[in-house]
Amino acid sequence: MPLHVRFSNEARDVGLVKSKKRIQYLRSKAASSQGWLCYYCQQPMWETDPKSFSARFGLTDRAALHFRCTAEHLEARCDGGRDTEENVVAACRYCNGNRHKSKRPKDAVSYMELVRSRMKQGRWRSRGTGGR
Ligand SMILES: [Zn+2]
Repeated sequence: MPLHVRFSNEARDVGLVKSKKRIQYLRSKAASSQGWLCYYCQQPMWETDPKSFSARFGLTDRAALHFRCTAEHLEARCDGGRDTEENVVAACRYCNGNRHKSKRPKDAVSYMELVRSRMKQGRWRSRGTGGR
């Protein structure tokens, strides 16, 4: 591989590591300002310790995985959303994953409305039903 290509690859890798750290920082910051509640479903999340989380809420370890804290971009990255404090919120893995399941993800506001209305109908994953 020509030398200059190798160097530019390395530069890119360093950039990736930086943006990963940044997103972790933004995620933790958002999560603590949300009181560690998911942006969409308002249920508690964990960041590093699923064991004590599942013990606290009486969940199986597998169920607890759904409540892992993830970084969520209000404006999706593919739509030009950036890794900034204004654009990153903390959402549980379940909500985050569901939003991005559809080919054309909903915008954050209508997705939140969907989650909240499903929850009212008992059609969203909650701690109560999370064990299954
Ligand atoms: Zn959630």
